[in-house]
Amino acid sequence: MPSDRYSKFIEALRQHHELYRQSIPLIASENLTSLAVRSMYLTDLGHRYAEGKVGKRFYQGCQYIDVIEDLAIQLTKEIFNAEHANVQPISGVTANIAAFFALTSPADKVVSLSVPCGGHISHDRFSAAGIRGLEVLHYPFDMERLNIDIDETRKLAEKERPKVLVLGSSLFLFPHPVKEIAEIAKEVDAKVIYDGSHVLGLIAGEQFQDPVKEGADVVTASTHKTFFGPQRAVILCRKELAKAIDNAVFPGVVSNHHLNTLAGYVIACMEMLEFGEAYAKQTVRNAKRLAEKLHELGFNVVGEQNGFTESHQVAVDVSEFGGGDPVAKMFERINIILNKNLLPWDDLTRTKNPSGIRIGVQEVTRLGMKEEEMEKLAEIMWDAVNSNKSEDRLKQEVAELKSEFNTIKYAFEETEAYTFFENFLSWPARKPAD
Ligand SMILES: *Cc1c(COP(=O)(O)O)cnc(C)c1O
Repeated sequence: MPSDRYSKFIEALRQHHELYRQSIPLIASENLTSLAVRSMYLTDLGHRYAEGKVGKRFYQGCQYIDVIEDLAIQLTKEIFNAEHANVQPISGVTANIAAFFALTSPADKVVSLSVPCGGHISHDRFSAAGIRGLEVLHYPFDMERLNIDIDETRKLAEKERPKVLVLGSSLFLFPHPVKEIAEIAKEVDAKVIYDGSHVLGLIAGEQFQDPVKEGADVVTASTHKTFFGPQRAVILCRKELAKAIDNAVFPGVVSNHHLNTLAGYVIACMEMLEFGEAYAKQTVRNAKRLAEKLHELGFNVVGEQNGFTESHQVAVDVSEFGGGDPVAKMFERINIILNKNLLPWDDLTRTKNPSGIRIGVQEVTRLGMKEEEMEKLAEIMWDAVNSNKSEDRLKQEVAELKSEFNTIKYAFEETEAYTFFENFLSWPARKPAD
């Protein structure tokens, strides 16, 4: 007999998969991987170490790992037109720590977006920038355009002489002024890091700005938000910075670099080359349609004067419904999964209950949803805050809308999205005892 602990564990796995099958997943930093990508997690590569670079490893036994990592590097350079790519960071935060390590010394100044204005925690003093001992200054932000104020940033940079200006963000509705910030950086002898974690797949599909071309010195990005990869990251840079970046990654911040998911990343790159453009186009179209419909119905969607969004994200100010915290929890009860989010006009004291929610349509787009489904989704969301339909009924409507969309599209083979491979659990014949 399997132990209680074991049964409880298996039951949690089973229920998790069932929950996602019935839910509409709208967390903007998440996505699905194809079965081809996932199957790589089970390879022997996940047991190995390949410290060092392709062809220059510290341990024996890496000859085929070299082939795989070299492919990952070549594909990355091709997709992003980058002079150099490092594919070893195991996450976006790791990539950012490495980039700060390469480009700064402790006590240097960096400029990044504040968290309410969209900056990621790792751009700030309480995370990666703080680990490097950096003094963090925040960009002046233009609340009308919902973007960085260039003139005020130039004044700030001339006065403070930062070493790095960080672009890219977690609430990322509109492209950032990379060209203008790169000019300012040149004037004050600073470098530009563009954190493309959220929009990497949109960049690959050529539906967002191209930070490499526009002048970022270094691009860091996780590979699993709008890109098709497993949870890891890449760093792109110019040739001159290659050595500094590579050394900052290893031996700086990784030892083993999760070779099984690196193999998954290779397949994700191939999927991007084949399906990236169509996927990115539909993703942005879906975000725009969802934003417009939510606005039409009466939600206070952020960025009306700028067309709401140019990315996979939509932000809604839900202050009138009690704030982001109760609203996100209410949506969770009807299986619409999204998160509360600080908005540019919130200060950090609002962290527990900020005025906004953030919605990402990249996962439902991977599942094949189009504009029509965005309209239905908007209607359910409006009913949830503004009608007397019961939560049970709304949950049912969510399940119905989702039921036709549980297959992963934009892949070489379309497969079930939330399969829990219970057959693997025929292992072990003898179940663990308590
Ligand atoms: C998600 C995110 C990260 C962190 O990526 P992880 O892979 O979760 O470590 C870094 N920067 C930005 C802008 C992000 O949105």
